[in-house]
Amino acid sequence: MKASQFFISTLKEAPADAEVVSHKLMMRAGMIKRLGAGIYNYMPMGLRVIRKVEAIIRDEMNRAGAVEMLMPVVQPAELWQETGRFDKMGPELMRVKDRHGRDFIIQPTSEEVVTDVARQELRSYKQLPKNFYHIQTKFRDERRPRFGVMRGREFTMKDAYSFDRDPASAAKSYEAMFAAYKRIFDRFGLTYRAVAADTGAIGGDLSHEFQVIAQTGEDAIIYCPTSDYAANIELAEAVAPAAPRAAATQALAKTPTPGKSTCADVAAFLGLDLKQTVKSLVLATDELDDQGVIVKSTVWLLLVRGDHDMNEVKVGKLEGLKAGFRFATVPEIEDHFGCKPGYLGPIGLLKPVKIVADRTVAQMSDFVCGANAWDHHFTGANWGRDLPEPDMVADIRNVVEGDPSPDGQGVLAIERGIEVGHVFYLGTKYSKAMNATFLDETGKPALMEMGCYGIGVTRILGAAIEQNHDARGIIWPASIAPFEVALCPIGMDRSEEVKAAAQRLYADLQGAGVDVILDDRGERPGAMFADWELIGVPLRVVISDRGLKEGQLEVQGRRDAEASKVALTEVVAQVR
Ligand code: ATP
Ligand code: MG
Ligand code: MG
Ligand code: MG
Repeated sequence: MKASQFFISTLKEAPADAEVVSHKLMMRAGMIKRLGAGIYNYMPMGLRVIRKVEAIIRDEMNRAGAVEMLMPVVQPAELWQETGRFDKMGPELMRVKDRHGRDFIIQPTSEEVVTDVARQELRSYKQLPKNFYHIQTKFRDERRPRFGVMRGREFTMKDAYSFDRDPASAAKSYEAMFAAYKRIFDRFGLTYRAVAADTGAIGGDLSHEFQVIAQTGEDAIIYCPTSDYAANIELAEAVAPAAPRAAATQALAKTPTPGKSTCADVAAFLGLDLKQTVKSLVLATDELDDQGVIVKSTVWLLLVRGDHDMNEVKVGKLEGLKAGFRFATVPEIEDHFGCKPGYLGPIGLLKPVKIVADRTVAQMSDFVCGANAWDHHFTGANWGRDLPEPDMVADIRNVVEGDPSPDGQGVLAIERGIEVGHVFYLGTKYSKAMNATFLDETGKPALMEMGCYGIGVTRILGAAIEQNHDARGIIWPASIAPFEVALCPIGMDRSEEVKAAAQRLYADLQGAGVDVILDDRGERPGAMFADWELIGVPLRVVISDRGLKEGQLEVQGRRDAEASKVALTEVVAQVR
Protein backbone atom coordinates (compact mmCIF):
# COMPACT_ATOMS: atom_id res chain seq x y z
CA MET A 1 0.00 0.00 0.00
CA LYS A 2 1.17 3.50 -0.79
CA ALA A 3 0.27 6.18 1.70
CA SER A 4 -0.64 8.60 -1.09
CA GLN A 5 -3.35 6.22 -2.26
CA PHE A 6 -4.51 5.14 1.13
CA PHE A 7 -6.42 7.35 3.55
CA ILE A 8 -4.55 8.76 6.50
CA SER A 9 -6.11 11.36 8.74
CA THR A 10 -4.45 12.04 12.06
CA LEU A 11 -5.28 14.60 14.72
CA LYS A 12 -3.07 16.43 17.20
CA GLU A 13 -5.79 16.55 19.84
CA ALA A 14 -8.44 14.06 20.79
CA PRO A 15 -12.04 15.26 20.93
CA ALA A 16 -13.21 16.26 24.39
CA ASP A 17 -15.69 13.40 24.76
CA ALA A 18 -12.96 10.75 24.54
CA GLU A 19 -12.30 9.64 28.11
CA VAL A 20 -10.02 6.63 27.92
CA VAL A 21 -6.73 6.35 26.12
CA SER A 22 -7.87 3.84 23.50
CA HIS A 23 -10.77 6.03 22.48
CA LYS A 24 -8.52 9.09 22.30
CA LEU A 25 -5.84 7.33 20.28
CA MET A 26 -8.27 5.68 17.89
CA MET A 27 -9.82 9.07 17.16
CA ARG A 28 -6.43 10.74 16.80
CA ALA A 29 -5.08 7.98 14.57
CA GLY A 30 -8.10 8.30 12.30
CA MET A 31 -9.30 4.75 12.92
CA ILE A 32 -12.86 5.59 13.82
CA LYS A 33 -15.14 8.53 13.28
CA ARG A 34 -18.18 9.17 15.42
CA LEU A 35 -21.54 9.20 13.71
CA GLY A 36 -23.77 9.14 16.78
CA ALA A 37 -23.65 7.97 20.39
CA GLY A 38 -21.99 4.56 20.35
CA ILE A 39 -22.08 4.48 16.55
CA TYR A 40 -18.89 4.85 14.54
CA ASN A 41 -17.57 4.82 11.02
CA TYR A 42 -14.69 2.40 10.87
CA MET A 43 -12.24 4.39 8.79
CA PRO A 44 -9.80 2.63 6.43
CA MET A 45 -6.98 2.50 8.99
CA GLY A 46 -9.24 1.04 11.70
CA LEU A 47 -10.92 -1.37 9.32
CA ARG A 48 -7.58 -2.96 8.50
CA VAL A 49 -7.18 -3.86 12.16
CA ILE A 50 -10.73 -5.20 12.35
CA ARG A 51 -10.12 -7.37 9.29
CA LYS A 52 -6.98 -8.82 10.87
CA VAL A 53 -8.81 -9.55 14.10
CA GLU A 54 -11.57 -11.24 12.12
CA ALA A 55 -9.11 -13.29 10.09
CA ILE A 56 -7.47 -14.72 13.21
CA ILE A 57 -10.84 -15.52 14.75
CA ARG A 58 -12.08 -17.13 11.53
CA ASP A 59 -8.94 -19.17 11.21
CA GLU A 60 -9.15 -20.59 14.72
CA MET A 61 -12.91 -21.12 14.62
CA ASN A 62 -12.58 -23.10 11.42
CA ARG A 63 -9.68 -25.06 12.86
CA ALA A 64 -11.85 -25.93 15.87
CA GLY A 65 -14.49 -27.33 13.52
CA ALA A 66 -17.01 -24.49 13.63
CA VAL A 67 -18.86 -23.66 10.40
CA GLU A 68 -19.30 -20.10 9.24
CA MET A 69 -22.66 -18.76 8.12
CA LEU A 70 -24.32 -15.35 8.26
CA MET A 71 -27.52 -14.55 10.08
CA PRO A 72 -29.54 -11.40 9.46
CA VAL A 73 -29.13 -8.21 11.40
CA VAL A 74 -32.89 -7.55 11.27
CA GLN A 75 -34.83 -10.45 12.72
CA PRO A 76 -38.58 -11.10 12.99
CA ALA A 77 -40.00 -10.56 16.46
CA GLU A 78 -41.89 -13.88 16.35
CA LEU A 79 -38.74 -15.87 17.11
CA TRP A 80 -37.91 -13.60 20.00
CA GLN A 81 -41.45 -13.96 21.28
CA GLU A 82 -41.03 -17.73 21.28
CA THR A 83 -38.31 -17.47 23.90
CA GLY A 84 -39.97 -14.58 25.67
CA ARG A 85 -36.98 -12.33 25.15
CA PHE A 86 -38.92 -9.86 22.99
CA ASP A 87 -40.75 -8.71 26.10
CA LYS A 88 -38.26 -9.58 28.81
CA MET A 89 -35.16 -8.08 27.43
CA GLY A 90 -35.74 -4.46 28.23
CA PRO A 91 -34.50 -1.36 26.47
CA GLU A 92 -31.16 -2.76 25.33
CA LEU A 93 -33.07 -4.63 22.61
CA MET A 94 -33.71 -2.39 19.62
CA ARG A 95 -37.23 -2.99 18.31
CA VAL A 96 -38.36 -1.71 14.94
CA LYS A 97 -41.50 -1.94 12.83
CA ASP A 98 -41.73 -2.45 9.11
CA ARG A 99 -44.17 -0.62 6.79
CA HIS A 100 -46.91 -3.10 7.65
CA GLY A 101 -46.50 -2.45 11.33
CA ARG A 102 -44.87 -5.83 11.96
CA ASP A 103 -42.33 -6.08 14.75
CA PHE A 104 -38.67 -6.76 14.19
CA ILE A 105 -35.56 -6.50 16.28
CA ILE A 106 -32.00 -5.55 15.42
CA GLN A 107 -29.96 -8.41 16.69
CA PRO A 108 -27.96 -8.03 19.89
CA THR A 109 -27.10 -11.76 19.62
CA SER A 110 -28.53 -14.66 17.64
CA GLU A 111 -29.63 -17.57 19.82
CA GLU A 112 -33.18 -17.47 18.49
CA VAL A 113 -32.29 -17.44 14.83
CA VAL A 114 -29.63 -20.09 15.07
CA THR A 115 -31.92 -22.34 17.11
CA ASP A 116 -34.58 -21.86 14.46
CA VAL A 117 -32.08 -22.96 11.82
CA ALA A 118 -31.01 -25.93 13.91
CA ARG A 119 -34.52 -27.21 14.60
CA GLN A 120 -35.20 -27.27 10.89
CA GLU A 121 -31.86 -28.53 9.65
CA LEU A 122 -30.45 -30.79 12.35
CA ARG A 123 -32.93 -33.63 12.52
CA SER A 124 -30.82 -36.65 13.36
CA TYR A 125 -28.20 -37.47 15.97
CA LYS A 126 -25.97 -38.23 13.00
CA GLN A 127 -25.81 -34.51 12.20
CA LEU A 128 -24.53 -33.65 15.68
CA PRO A 129 -22.41 -32.11 17.02
CA LYS A 130 -22.54 -28.94 14.96
CA ASN A 131 -21.20 -25.49 15.66
CA PHE A 132 -22.39 -22.52 13.58
CA TYR A 133 -20.78 -19.13 13.82
CA HIS A 134 -20.93 -15.76 12.18
CA ILE A 135 -19.15 -12.43 12.38
CA GLN A 136 -21.89 -9.88 12.23
CA THR A 137 -23.02 -6.43 13.23
CA LYS A 138 -24.80 -6.26 16.56
CA PHE A 139 -26.91 -3.55 18.07
CA ARG A 140 -27.43 -3.07 21.78
CA ASP A 141 -29.00 0.11 22.94
CA GLU A 142 -26.54 0.40 25.80
CA ARG A 143 -27.53 2.66 28.62
CA ARG A 144 -24.22 4.38 28.52
CA PRO A 145 -22.28 3.88 25.33
CA ARG A 146 -18.76 5.05 25.96
CA PHE A 147 -15.07 4.52 25.51
CA GLY A 148 -15.38 4.43 21.71
CA VAL A 149 -15.52 0.91 20.32
CA MET A 150 -15.30 -0.61 23.80
CA ARG A 151 -18.93 -0.05 24.61
CA GLY A 152 -20.59 0.86 21.38
CA ARG A 153 -24.23 0.48 20.50
CA GLU A 154 -23.46 -0.83 17.03
CA PHE A 155 -20.49 -3.18 17.11
CA THR A 156 -19.17 -6.34 15.53
CA MET A 157 -19.28 -9.65 17.34
CA LYS A 158 -18.26 -13.14 16.45
CA ASP A 159 -20.88 -15.40 17.91
CA ALA A 160 -20.85 -19.17 17.70
CA TYR A 161 -23.49 -21.69 18.78
CA SER A 162 -22.90 -25.36 19.39
CA PHE A 163 -25.53 -28.11 19.18
CA ASP A 164 -24.93 -31.44 20.84
CA ARG A 165 -26.84 -34.58 21.62
CA ASP A 166 -26.09 -34.71 25.34
CA PRO A 167 -24.34 -32.78 28.12
CA ALA A 168 -21.13 -34.80 27.86
CA SER A 169 -20.81 -34.00 24.19
CA ALA A 170 -21.75 -30.36 24.87
CA ALA A 171 -18.92 -30.18 27.39
CA LYS A 172 -16.52 -31.29 24.67
CA SER A 173 -17.80 -28.59 22.33
CA TYR A 174 -17.32 -26.10 25.13
CA GLU A 175 -13.76 -27.25 25.74
CA ALA A 176 -12.98 -27.01 22.04
CA MET A 177 -14.19 -23.41 22.02
CA PHE A 178 -12.32 -22.62 25.21
CA ALA A 179 -9.11 -23.91 23.63
CA ALA A 180 -9.81 -22.00 20.41
CA TYR A 181 -10.33 -18.81 22.40
CA LYS A 182 -6.97 -19.26 24.09
CA ARG A 183 -5.30 -19.63 20.73
CA ILE A 184 -7.13 -16.58 19.40
CA PHE A 185 -6.12 -14.33 22.29
CA ASP A 186 -2.57 -15.68 22.22
CA ARG A 187 -2.36 -14.79 18.56
CA PHE A 188 -3.64 -11.30 19.28
CA GLY A 189 -0.62 -10.92 21.53
CA LEU A 190 -2.70 -9.71 24.46
CA THR A 191 -2.30 -10.35 28.18
CA TYR A 192 -5.57 -11.89 29.26
CA ARG A 193 -7.15 -14.25 31.71
CA ALA A 194 -9.88 -16.79 31.28
CA VAL A 195 -12.11 -16.09 34.20
CA ALA A 196 -14.80 -18.34 35.58
CA ALA A 197 -18.09 -16.51 35.40
CA ASP A 198 -21.29 -17.44 37.10
CA THR A 199 -23.89 -19.20 35.04
CA GLY A 200 -26.86 -17.66 36.81
CA ALA A 201 -30.11 -19.51 36.45
CA ILE A 202 -28.67 -22.04 34.05
CA GLY A 203 -26.38 -23.61 36.59
CA GLY A 204 -23.24 -25.63 36.14
CA ASP A 205 -19.82 -24.10 36.03
CA LEU A 206 -19.35 -23.88 32.32
CA SER A 207 -19.05 -20.18 31.71
CA HIS A 208 -15.85 -18.28 31.24
CA GLU A 209 -15.09 -14.75 30.33
CA PHE A 210 -11.90 -13.80 28.59
CA GLN A 211 -10.63 -10.65 30.20
CA VAL A 212 -7.87 -8.44 28.85
CA ILE A 213 -5.97 -6.98 31.78
CA ALA A 214 -6.13 -3.18 31.72
CA GLN A 215 -6.41 -0.38 34.25
CA THR A 216 -9.48 1.06 32.57
CA GLY A 217 -11.40 -2.21 32.59
CA GLU A 218 -14.99 -2.10 33.75
CA ASP A 219 -14.65 -5.44 35.48
CA ALA A 220 -12.43 -6.52 38.36
CA ILE A 221 -10.76 -9.87 38.34
CA ILE A 222 -9.79 -11.81 41.38
CA TYR A 223 -7.11 -14.27 40.46
CA CYS A 224 -4.27 -16.29 41.81
CA PRO A 225 -0.98 -15.38 40.09
CA THR A 226 0.47 -18.80 40.88
CA SER A 227 -2.39 -20.91 39.56
CA ASP A 228 -5.21 -20.83 37.01
CA TYR A 229 -7.80 -19.63 39.48
CA ALA A 230 -9.65 -16.50 38.36
CA ALA A 231 -13.09 -15.05 38.92
CA ASN A 232 -14.79 -11.92 37.70
CA ILE A 233 -16.64 -9.11 39.37
CA GLU A 234 -18.42 -6.70 37.11
CA LEU A 235 -17.67 -3.43 38.78
CA ALA A 236 -20.42 -1.16 39.85
CA GLU A 237 -21.41 1.01 36.97
CA ALA A 238 -22.13 3.61 39.49
CA VAL A 239 -22.68 6.92 37.87
CA ALA A 240 -25.50 8.31 39.92
CA PRO A 241 -25.23 12.04 40.34
CA ALA A 242 -25.58 13.04 43.94
CA ALA A 243 -29.21 13.98 44.31
CA PRO A 244 -29.87 17.43 45.71
CA ARG A 245 -30.49 17.27 49.40
CA ALA A 246 -34.07 18.49 49.13
CA ALA A 247 -34.94 15.92 46.51
CA ALA A 248 -33.34 13.20 48.55
CA THR A 249 -35.27 14.14 51.63
CA GLN A 250 -38.45 14.30 49.63
CA ALA A 251 -37.82 10.93 48.07
CA LEU A 252 -37.11 9.48 51.45
CA ALA A 253 -40.25 10.91 52.86
CA LYS A 254 -42.01 8.57 50.50
CA THR A 255 -39.99 5.58 51.55
CA PRO A 256 -39.96 5.36 55.27
CA THR A 257 -41.01 1.79 55.73
CA PRO A 258 -38.85 -1.26 55.29
CA GLY A 259 -40.59 -3.65 53.00
CA LYS A 260 -42.51 -0.91 51.24
CA SER A 261 -39.90 1.11 49.44
CA THR A 262 -39.87 0.44 45.77
CA CYS A 263 -37.28 0.61 43.08
CA ALA A 264 -39.09 3.65 41.78
CA ASP A 265 -38.52 5.34 45.13
CA VAL A 266 -34.84 4.63 44.88
CA ALA A 267 -34.78 5.85 41.33
CA ALA A 268 -36.46 9.06 42.40
CA PHE A 269 -33.94 9.43 45.14
CA LEU A 270 -31.08 8.97 42.74
CA GLY A 271 -32.65 11.01 40.02
CA LEU A 272 -32.35 8.06 37.69
CA ASP A 273 -34.40 5.32 36.18
CA LEU A 274 -32.71 2.71 38.30
CA LYS A 275 -34.23 -0.27 36.58
CA GLN A 276 -33.17 0.80 33.19
CA THR A 277 -29.98 2.60 33.86
CA VAL A 278 -28.00 1.27 36.76
CA LYS A 279 -26.42 -2.12 36.68
CA SER A 280 -25.13 -2.23 40.16
CA LEU A 281 -24.53 0.51 42.59
CA VAL A 282 -22.97 0.99 45.93
CA LEU A 283 -24.33 3.76 48.01
CA ALA A 284 -23.76 4.92 51.51
CA THR A 285 -26.47 6.10 53.82
CA ASP A 286 -25.80 7.94 57.03
CA GLU A 287 -27.93 8.06 60.11
CA LEU A 288 -27.76 11.47 61.73
CA ASP A 289 -28.52 12.60 65.22
CA ASP A 290 -30.30 15.86 66.04
CA GLN A 291 -27.11 17.83 65.64
CA GLY A 292 -26.55 16.36 62.22
CA VAL A 293 -23.65 14.20 63.38
CA ILE A 294 -23.30 10.86 61.66
CA VAL A 295 -24.02 8.15 64.18
CA LYS A 296 -24.15 5.28 61.78
CA SER A 297 -23.14 4.68 58.18
CA THR A 298 -24.54 1.87 56.17
CA VAL A 299 -23.36 0.86 52.78
CA TRP A 300 -25.91 -0.63 50.46
CA LEU A 301 -25.46 -2.64 47.38
CA LEU A 302 -28.19 -2.43 44.81
CA LEU A 303 -27.97 -4.89 42.02
CA VAL A 304 -29.86 -4.71 38.80
CA ARG A 305 -29.61 -7.87 36.83
CA GLY A 306 -29.18 -6.65 33.35
CA ASP A 307 -28.49 -9.42 30.93
CA HIS A 308 -30.31 -9.67 27.65
CA ASP A 309 -33.12 -11.49 29.28
CA MET A 310 -34.29 -9.28 32.03
CA ASN A 311 -33.65 -6.45 34.33
CA GLU A 312 -34.08 -7.52 37.87
CA VAL A 313 -33.14 -5.91 41.09
CA LYS A 314 -31.61 -7.61 44.02
CA VAL A 315 -30.49 -6.07 47.16
CA GLY A 316 -27.77 -6.83 49.60
CA LYS A 317 -26.50 -5.05 52.61
CA LEU A 318 -22.84 -4.37 52.93
CA GLU A 319 -21.15 -3.56 56.11
CA GLY A 320 -18.29 -1.26 55.53
CA LEU A 321 -16.10 -1.02 52.48
CA LYS A 322 -12.77 -2.78 52.04
CA ALA A 323 -12.04 -5.30 54.74
CA GLY A 324 -14.99 -7.18 56.09
CA PHE A 325 -17.02 -6.19 53.09
CA ARG A 326 -19.65 -8.82 52.55
CA PHE A 327 -23.09 -9.69 51.39
CA ALA A 328 -25.75 -10.11 53.96
CA THR A 329 -27.18 -13.58 54.25
CA VAL A 330 -30.68 -14.29 53.03
CA PRO A 331 -32.19 -14.49 56.52
CA GLU A 332 -30.48 -11.22 57.39
CA ILE A 333 -31.91 -9.51 54.36
CA GLU A 334 -35.35 -10.94 54.97
CA ASP A 335 -35.18 -9.89 58.54
CA HIS A 336 -33.93 -6.47 57.74
CA PHE A 337 -36.33 -5.61 54.99
CA GLY A 338 -39.23 -7.65 56.11
CA CYS A 339 -39.41 -9.23 52.70
CA LYS A 340 -37.60 -11.66 50.50
CA PRO A 341 -34.72 -10.26 48.52
CA GLY A 342 -35.67 -10.73 44.99
CA TYR A 343 -36.69 -9.26 41.81
CA LEU A 344 -38.31 -6.08 40.71
CA GLY A 345 -41.17 -5.16 42.88
CA PRO A 346 -41.86 -3.56 46.17
CA ILE A 347 -38.80 -4.44 48.11
CA GLY A 348 -37.46 -2.31 50.83
CA LEU A 349 -34.22 -0.84 49.71
CA LEU A 350 -33.68 1.92 52.15
CA LYS A 351 -34.08 2.14 55.84
CA PRO A 352 -35.93 5.08 57.31
CA VAL A 353 -32.85 7.13 57.92
CA LYS A 354 -31.88 10.56 56.82
CA ILE A 355 -29.53 10.60 53.94
CA VAL A 356 -26.83 13.08 53.32
CA ALA A 357 -27.11 13.41 49.63
CA ASP A 358 -23.52 14.20 48.86
CA ARG A 359 -22.47 11.05 50.67
CA THR A 360 -24.39 9.10 48.07
CA VAL A 361 -21.23 8.19 46.39
CA ALA A 362 -20.35 5.52 43.98
CA GLN A 363 -17.51 3.63 45.55
CA MET A 364 -15.71 2.23 42.60
CA SER A 365 -12.09 2.44 43.47
CA ASP A 366 -10.66 0.22 46.17
CA PHE A 367 -13.55 -2.04 45.39
CA VAL A 368 -12.04 -5.15 46.81
CA CYS A 369 -15.08 -7.30 47.19
CA GLY A 370 -15.35 -10.75 45.81
CA ALA A 371 -17.98 -13.39 45.91
CA ASN A 372 -16.65 -16.87 45.88
CA ALA A 373 -18.02 -19.71 47.89
CA TRP A 374 -14.98 -21.60 48.97
CA ASP A 375 -16.53 -24.98 49.32
CA HIS A 376 -18.97 -24.78 46.47
CA HIS A 377 -16.46 -23.80 43.85
CA PHE A 378 -18.99 -21.15 43.03
CA THR A 379 -16.59 -18.95 41.19
CA GLY A 380 -19.02 -16.55 39.62
CA ALA A 381 -18.78 -13.12 41.04
CA ASN A 382 -20.27 -11.28 38.15
CA TRP A 383 -22.47 -8.89 39.99
CA GLY A 384 -24.24 -7.05 37.27
CA ARG A 385 -25.35 -9.84 35.11
CA ASP A 386 -24.77 -13.05 36.87
CA LEU A 387 -25.68 -12.53 40.46
CA PRO A 388 -26.11 -15.80 42.24
CA GLU A 389 -29.60 -16.96 42.95
CA PRO A 390 -30.89 -15.82 46.35
CA ASP A 391 -30.28 -19.16 47.97
CA MET A 392 -26.64 -18.88 47.03
CA VAL A 393 -26.18 -15.56 48.75
CA ALA A 394 -25.57 -17.09 52.15
CA ASP A 395 -22.74 -19.11 50.70
CA ILE A 396 -20.85 -16.18 49.38
CA ARG A 397 -17.88 -14.86 51.18
CA ASN A 398 -15.83 -11.92 50.22
CA VAL A 399 -12.17 -11.79 49.60
CA VAL A 400 -9.49 -9.19 49.68
CA GLU A 401 -6.08 -9.15 48.09
CA GLY A 402 -3.73 -11.55 49.81
CA ASP A 403 -6.45 -13.97 50.91
CA PRO A 404 -5.68 -17.60 50.15
CA SER A 405 -6.87 -18.76 46.74
CA PRO A 406 -9.79 -21.22 46.90
CA ASP A 407 -7.69 -23.76 45.02
CA GLY A 408 -5.02 -23.63 47.72
CA GLN A 409 -2.35 -22.73 45.19
CA GLY A 410 -1.41 -19.30 46.44
CA VAL A 411 -2.90 -15.96 47.39
CA LEU A 412 -5.37 -13.78 45.55
CA ALA A 413 -4.64 -10.64 43.60
CA ILE A 414 -7.11 -8.22 42.06
CA GLU A 415 -6.83 -6.46 38.71
CA ARG A 416 -9.05 -4.61 36.31
CA GLY A 417 -10.10 -6.32 33.13
CA ILE A 418 -12.03 -5.80 29.92
CA GLU A 419 -14.41 -8.57 28.88
CA VAL A 420 -13.47 -9.40 25.31
CA GLY A 421 -14.94 -12.87 25.02
CA HIS A 422 -17.47 -15.08 26.71
CA VAL A 423 -18.09 -18.81 26.41
CA PHE A 424 -21.27 -20.16 27.88
CA TYR A 425 -22.89 -23.56 28.24
CA LEU A 426 -26.60 -22.98 27.67
CA GLY A 427 -27.99 -26.45 28.19
CA THR A 428 -31.51 -26.72 26.78
CA LYS A 429 -32.65 -23.21 27.64
CA TYR A 430 -33.27 -22.24 24.03
CA SER A 431 -33.90 -25.65 22.51
CA LYS A 432 -36.65 -26.20 25.05
CA ALA A 433 -38.26 -22.81 24.49
CA MET A 434 -38.18 -23.32 20.72
CA ASN A 435 -38.65 -27.06 20.63
CA ALA A 436 -35.39 -27.79 18.86
CA THR A 437 -35.18 -31.57 18.89
CA PHE A 438 -33.35 -34.27 16.98
CA LEU A 439 -34.06 -37.97 16.70
CA ASP A 440 -31.73 -40.20 18.68
CA GLU A 441 -30.68 -43.75 17.76
CA THR A 442 -33.97 -45.15 18.97
CA GLY A 443 -35.92 -42.68 16.90
CA LYS A 444 -37.06 -40.71 19.92
CA PRO A 445 -36.95 -36.90 19.84
CA ALA A 446 -34.53 -35.28 22.30
CA LEU A 447 -33.69 -31.66 23.05
CA MET A 448 -30.41 -30.31 21.74
CA GLU A 449 -27.76 -29.24 24.22
CA MET A 450 -26.44 -25.82 23.32
CA GLY A 451 -23.49 -23.53 24.00
CA CYS A 452 -22.85 -19.95 22.87
CA TYR A 453 -19.49 -18.28 22.38
CA GLY A 454 -18.94 -14.57 21.74
CA ILE A 455 -15.97 -12.37 20.96
CA GLY A 456 -16.26 -8.61 20.75
CA VAL A 457 -14.38 -8.02 17.51
CA THR A 458 -14.43 -4.25 17.64
CA ARG A 459 -13.92 -4.15 21.40
CA ILE A 460 -10.64 -6.03 20.85
CA LEU A 461 -9.21 -2.89 19.25
CA GLY A 462 -9.90 -0.81 22.31
CA ALA A 463 -8.67 -3.49 24.69
CA ALA A 464 -5.45 -3.97 22.70
CA ILE A 465 -4.73 -0.26 22.84
CA GLU A 466 -5.51 0.06 26.54
CA GLN A 467 -2.84 -2.54 27.06
CA ASN A 468 -0.35 -1.35 24.45
CA HIS A 469 0.34 2.35 24.12
CA ASP A 470 2.74 5.07 25.20
CA ALA A 471 2.85 8.85 25.18
CA ARG A 472 3.36 8.88 21.42
CA GLY A 473 0.48 6.64 20.49
CA ILE A 474 -0.68 3.11 19.85
CA ILE A 475 1.66 0.11 19.86
CA TRP A 476 -0.17 -2.61 17.96
CA PRO A 477 0.75 -6.23 18.47
CA ALA A 478 2.18 -7.21 15.05
CA SER A 479 -0.58 -9.74 14.32
CA ILE A 480 -3.33 -7.13 14.27
CA ALA A 481 -1.44 -3.97 13.28
CA PRO A 482 -2.93 -2.07 10.32
CA PHE A 483 0.46 -2.42 8.65
CA GLU A 484 3.46 -4.36 9.83
CA VAL A 485 6.08 -1.98 8.44
CA ALA A 486 6.06 1.71 7.56
CA LEU A 487 8.69 2.61 4.97
CA CYS A 488 9.71 6.21 5.50
CA PRO A 489 11.89 7.64 2.74
CA ILE A 490 13.40 11.04 3.53
CA GLY A 491 13.47 13.49 0.66
CA MET A 492 12.00 11.07 -1.86
CA ASP A 493 11.05 13.97 -4.14
CA ARG A 494 14.61 15.32 -4.14
CA SER A 495 16.75 12.23 -4.20
CA GLU A 496 16.62 9.69 -7.02
CA GLU A 497 18.66 7.29 -4.89
CA VAL A 498 16.20 7.42 -2.03
CA LYS A 499 13.27 7.06 -4.39
CA ALA A 500 14.77 4.06 -6.15
CA ALA A 501 15.80 2.37 -2.91
CA ALA A 502 12.38 2.94 -1.38
CA GLN A 503 10.55 1.53 -4.35
CA ARG A 504 12.82 -1.48 -4.55
CA LEU A 505 12.48 -2.23 -0.87
CA TYR A 506 8.74 -1.73 -1.04
CA ALA A 507 8.50 -4.28 -3.85
CA ASP A 508 10.83 -6.72 -2.09
CA LEU A 509 8.92 -6.54 1.18
CA GLN A 510 5.63 -7.03 -0.62
CA GLY A 511 7.16 -9.96 -2.45
CA ALA A 512 8.17 -11.42 0.92
CA GLY A 513 4.58 -11.20 2.12
CA VAL A 514 5.15 -8.30 4.51
CA ASP A 515 2.19 -5.96 5.01
CA VAL A 516 4.06 -2.75 4.23
CA ILE A 517 3.02 0.84 3.63
CA LEU A 518 5.30 3.19 1.72
CA ASP A 519 4.95 6.74 2.99
CA ASP A 520 5.24 8.60 -0.29
CA ARG A 521 3.21 11.59 0.89
CA GLY A 522 6.23 13.89 0.93
CA GLU A 523 5.76 14.80 4.60
CA ARG A 524 8.63 16.18 6.67
CA PRO A 525 10.41 13.43 8.64
CA GLY A 526 9.12 14.68 12.01
CA ALA A 527 5.49 14.69 10.91
CA MET A 528 5.88 11.39 9.12
CA PHE A 529 7.40 9.66 12.14
CA ALA A 530 4.83 11.14 14.49
CA ASP A 531 2.02 9.78 12.33
CA TRP A 532 3.34 6.23 12.33
CA GLU A 533 4.05 6.31 16.02
CA LEU A 534 0.54 7.51 16.68
CA ILE A 535 -0.96 4.90 14.35
CA GLY A 536 1.18 2.31 16.07
CA VAL A 537 2.86 0.45 13.23
CA PRO A 538 5.27 -2.01 14.89
CA LEU A 539 8.28 -1.37 12.65
CA ARG A 540 9.60 1.72 10.89
CA VAL A 541 12.29 1.67 8.22
CA VAL A 542 13.90 4.99 7.33
CA ILE A 543 15.60 5.43 3.98
CA SER A 544 17.87 8.46 3.67
CA ASP A 545 20.70 9.64 1.46
CA ARG A 546 23.03 9.61 4.42
CA GLY A 547 22.27 5.99 5.24
CA LEU A 548 22.36 4.87 1.64
CA LYS A 549 25.91 6.21 1.29
CA GLU A 550 26.90 3.62 3.88
CA GLY A 551 24.63 1.00 2.35
CA GLN A 552 22.42 1.12 5.44
CA LEU A 553 18.87 1.82 6.54
CA GLU A 554 17.49 2.62 9.96
CA VAL A 555 15.12 0.09 11.43
CA GLN A 556 13.23 0.90 14.61
CA GLY A 557 10.69 -1.17 16.51
CA ARG A 558 7.81 0.85 17.94
CA ARG A 559 8.94 0.07 21.48
CA ASP A 560 12.66 0.64 20.79
CA ALA A 561 14.34 3.74 22.18
CA GLU A 562 16.67 3.98 19.20
CA ALA A 563 16.92 2.87 15.61
CA SER A 564 19.46 0.28 14.60
CA LYS A 565 21.39 0.39 11.36
CA VAL A 566 20.75 -2.52 9.07
CA ALA A 567 22.53 -3.25 5.80
CA LEU A 568 20.28 -2.60 2.80
CA THR A 569 20.68 -6.19 1.74
CA GLU A 570 19.62 -7.50 5.15
CA VAL A 571 16.45 -5.51 5.68
CA VAL A 572 13.95 -7.90 4.10
CA ALA A 573 15.33 -10.87 5.99
CA GLN A 574 15.31 -8.95 9.25
CA VAL A 575 11.83 -7.53 8.86
CA ARG A 576 10.27 -10.78 7.79
P1 ATP B 1 -20.60 -6.40 28.96
O1 ATP B 1 -20.58 -7.12 30.28
O2 ATP B 1 -19.34 -5.66 28.66
O3 ATP B 1 -21.83 -5.56 28.75
P2 ATP B 1 -21.82 -8.68 27.80
O4 ATP B 1 -21.53 -9.66 28.86
O5 ATP B 1 -23.14 -8.01 27.77
O6 ATP B 1 -20.68 -7.54 27.82
P3 ATP B 1 -21.90 -10.76 25.83
O7 ATP B 1 -23.37 -10.85 25.69
O8 ATP B 1 -21.20 -11.80 26.63
O9 ATP B 1 -21.52 -9.29 26.36
O10 ATP B 1 -21.31 -10.64 24.34
C1 ATP B 1 -20.08 -11.23 23.91
C2 ATP B 1 -19.00 -10.20 23.71
O11 ATP B 1 -19.42 -9.09 22.93
C3 ATP B 1 -18.51 -9.58 25.00
O12 ATP B 1 -17.62 -10.44 25.65
C4 ATP B 1 -17.85 -8.31 24.51
O13 ATP B 1 -16.53 -8.57 24.06
C5 ATP B 1 -18.68 -7.93 23.30
N1 ATP B 1 -19.60 -6.82 23.61
C6 ATP B 1 -20.71 -6.86 24.37
N2 ATP B 1 -21.31 -5.66 24.43
C7 ATP B 1 -20.54 -4.82 23.68
C8 ATP B 1 -20.63 -3.44 23.34
N3 ATP B 1 -21.64 -2.69 23.77
N4 ATP B 1 -19.67 -2.91 22.53
C9 ATP B 1 -18.66 -3.67 22.08
N5 ATP B 1 -18.52 -4.97 22.36
C10 ATP B 1 -19.45 -5.55 23.15
MG1 MG C 1 -23.75 -6.11 28.23
MG1 MG D 1 -20.51 -9.17 30.77
MG1 MG E 1 -20.67 -11.58 28.66
